[in-house]
Amino acid sequence: MRHATLPDGTTVPALGQGTWHMGERGADRRAEAEALRLGIDLGLTLIDTAEMYADGGAEEVVKEAIAGRREEVFLVSKVYPHNASRARMVRSCEASLRRMGVETVDLYLLHWRGSVPLAETVEAFERLVAEGKIRRWGVSNLDVDDLEELGAALADCQTDQVLYNLEARGPEFDLLPFCAGHRMPVMAYSPVGQGGRMLRDPALRAVAARHGTGPAAIALAFTLHRPGVIAIPKAGNPAHLRENAAARDIVLTAQDLAELDSAFPPPRRKQALAML
Ligand code: NDP
Repeated sequence: MRHATLPDGTTVPALGQGTWHMGERGADRRAEAEALRLGIDLGLTLIDTAEMYADGGAEEVVKEAIAGRREEVFLVSKVYPHNASRARMVRSCEASLRRMGVETVDLYLLHWRGSVPLAETVEAFERLVAEGKIRRWGVSNLDVDDLEELGAALADCQTDQVLYNLEARGPEFDLLPFCAGHRMPVMAYSPVGQGGRMLRDPALRAVAARHGTGPAAIALAFTLHRPGVIAIPKAGNPAHLRENAAARDIVLTAQDLAELDSAFPPPRRKQALAML
């Protein structure tokens, strides 16, 4: 099983599970929780959620999924930028804890940058750490210049969760090397391109056929082949979960990587960080 090490020394699985769009329809919640539980059984024990997803509904699905197995999972949740202030973050965090039925979040992220100064957000994070409501903090959708603005606090930031997949390789130019230089893993969101066009690409399919697997597994193996990248695919379908879990064992060859490079060219210059 592949792992990543956070700057504070904590080891987490390099392949986890996303939850965006879970909890949106009451009728689907039980199946969604079951899917997350299957993922945990398969070792995908890092679960990413956010107060934004289904207005807290995804965190409620997480509660159902982890009932009785809190100690098996590494929980990541995210605070809205407009709640990432001295005055509002505590309330947001407490609401997330209540919805997930837990006493502490393992990693709490700023979802994206808004108008609250980063220094104030860091101060609010540190207060939650001191109170034991979160174990550690990080950011999401921050480009290199934003990370630099964190200054000395960058040493305490545990990850930057960003859009990174075969179709969105911009971070390879500067963000991934910058984070590697700070020994901070990057968390790749939408790593299978939201199950869309990317998975129909003929080159990706050809590589997948050689490995006897599906294109999503190769897309995941691609994001994971660099040390210091954590991928958090969302899958409600049990067959998808099994395929994704198997991606951890795929070793891409030089030929595979060359074919993927010609279908999905790596960046030649700085690209502004894309976000969904
Ligand atoms: P993903 O790239 O994870 O794609 C999810 C979609 O792909 C689902 O429709 C899923 O279908 C499908 N899928 C999953 N596995 C397979 C497979 N093996 N074969 C075919 N299709 C597959 O996109 P997300 O945008 O959901 O990103 C992942 C997670 O990252 C989110 O859920 C969220 O937790 C986080 N995120 C964070 C953002 C941020 O701003 N910080 C922004 C976006 C996402 P099915 O469910 O039917 O299995």
